Amino acid sequence: MAIDYSEKFEPIVTTSLISEDEGESSLRPRTLSEYVGQEKAKQNLSVYIEAAKMRGEPLDHVLLHGPPGLGKTTLASIIANEMNVNMRITSGPAIEKPGDLAALLTNLNENDILFVDEIHRLNRAVEEILYPAMEDYALDIIMGKGPSASSIRLELKKFTLIGATTRSGQLSAPLRDRFGVVERLELYTTEELQKIVERSARILGIGIDPSGARELAARSRGTPRIANRMLRRVRDFAQVLANGVITREVADEALTRLEVDHCGLDSIDRRMLRSIIENYGGGPVGLETLAATINEETVTLEDVYEPYLLQKGYITRTPRGRCVTRKAYEHLGIAFIGQQSLDM
Ligand code: ADP
Repeated sequence: MAIDYSEKFEPIVTTSLISEDEGESSLRPRTLSEYVGQEKAKQNLSVYIEAAKMRGEPLDHVLLHGPPGLGKTTLASIIANEMNVNMRITSGPAIEKPGDLAALLTNLNENDILFVDEIHRLNRAVEEILYPAMEDYALDIIMGKGPSASSIRLELKKFTLIGATTRSGQLSAPLRDRFGVVERLELYTTEELQKIVERSARILGIGIDPSGARELAARSRGTPRIANRMLRRVRDFAQVLANGVITREVADEALTRLEVDHCGLDSIDRRMLRSIIENYGGGPVGLETLAATINEETVTLEDVYEPYLLQKGYITRTPRGRCVTRKAYEHLGIAFIGQQSLDM
């Protein structure tokens, strides 16, 4: 029975959540030892957590940065769990006014965690309230207006701010400087993603053999959220075609129908590369121009497409824009003519 996956479903690679992410929290590891990969960040954090617990103090403020779906929210909730404290979750765009942030902060208990996703999107007025809160655990409240305005200081309980961002470069310097711990999350290796897929399959009761898990892992662009989305989608396929067990063949067939190729590139990756070659002579081209040419959003290209293409060596970033490499020509089966100076 033929299933047309490309027609039937939303795209798998997105900056926002899709229907497959429902119940995502059931797949979240709860402890550092269950959290696969990110060894450097994990080792550092476990030392800081241990030290803070020994001193009976809150953990230093933590900034986690890296592409969407790599486990920033998960890591924050693990930190809360390991510190044995509560975590309040909010996001930069959700905190509209200084008063919204003040309400969140005054409701925290001693050593609690405030998790702010997309912290680069906080507005200026809110950000300024955050500085004394992070530094001195205090809120400076302005009473009145004009020359008669006065400020009173309100003490807060000690807390930890965990900020997550896909764009650490967009954070203002004063905000970035107030984080004692800054960890960058990296794209995962195929081996790590295979472990994540096998763990998620166990939790969801999905039959998968090791070669099937490896195939999904290799084609999920280094990102656990995408690996989990693929697992859920390929499950339907396995039910129809192969008694419910995801084998390498089932995974390959389903992913090919989803237009994800053997290197994990999807149709938008290929359009990006093809457009740089065909419209811009292999580059350099600015990301905004490229996004307009292929009719996609710049943030999506920058946050989810580019990191994987850079990591796999299909494109390079130069001060004048993005260029494709010889590998991209070869991948698309286009003859490589010149451009050696830009090639990797
Ligand atoms: P982010 O906040 O960076 O966008 P999330 O923390 O929401 O990413 O992670 C997305 C999903 O990926 C989660 O549901 C979680 O199940 C899974 N995940 C992320 N990192 C890991 C990991 N290291 N080990 C296992 N699963 C992970």
